[in-house]
Amino acid sequence: MPRTLIAGNWKMNGLKDSLTELDHIVEGLSGAHTEADIALCGPATLVALMAERALGSRLLIGGQTCHHAPSGAHTGDISAPMLKDAGASHVIVGHSERREAHAERSTYVQEQAYAALEAALIPIICIGENYNERQRGETDRVNERVLRKSMPYPGAQGDKVDFVVAYEPKWAIGTGQTPTMEQIESAHAHIRSILIEHQGEAGVDVQILYGGSMKPGNAAEILNIANVNGGLIGGASLKAEDFLAIYEAAASEPD
Ligand code: PEP
Repeated sequence: MPRTLIAGNWKMNGLKDSLTELDHIVEGLSGAHTEADIALCGPATLVALMAERALGSRLLIGGQTCHHAPSGAHTGDISAPMLKDAGASHVIVGHSERREAHAERSTYVQEQAYAALEAALIPIICIGENYNERQRGETDRVNERVLRKSMPYPGAQGDKVDFVVAYEPKWAIGTGQTPTMEQIESAHAHIRSILIEHQGEAGVDVQILYGGSMKPGNAAEILNIANVNGGLIGGASLKAEDFLAIYEAAASEPD
């Protein structure tokens, strides 16, 4: 059974002053009742500072995207080795906001995932249907197509590849709406079956996070669903109190 991972995504929020919020998270973690993993994916300008402030705590730091090349003439981009050098352990790739606003397609997301692995970062690969796809009953078909094209595969040696999947229904992101618990369970079970089909036994160990309007009030219920191995949290990760409450909700999971 994969370890639980609670990952925050600050998106394009956060100035140096906001690091006091990270300090509160780190303080809160010392008294936490769960052994779950916890990560915070900050804006590129803060990643190094966040990693410094989190040093010695269990809080891991991540980036929110990376270029597929390790370096070069790509003005404004950030590479996976740069994030690693800044102290990151994870990087989000293929978030729906980037797929939409920056036209990042799944084949590109897969290149980003390989770039992350090459730099010893763990990619958090986001997938999920939009509202119309859900209404048309296409959720599983969309998730399968997008995941198959976005995820990395074991190499010729058959070595396990270390990545995380975040199932984020686009219509649930930042809207306050969430799927029913049955819908989440069904989507996660289907994602698990795709992972096993394409990654072999290693697919059992891939963490599948749920993302989309997760908050202290619904976290425990969502985290208790089969094949939900944690959460990717946007808005509620900006406040230490809310983020810590979601992290604590991981403690109520059954063994
Ligand atoms: C996200 O953007 O990954 C996300 C889940 O956002 P929110 O929690 O605000 O819905």
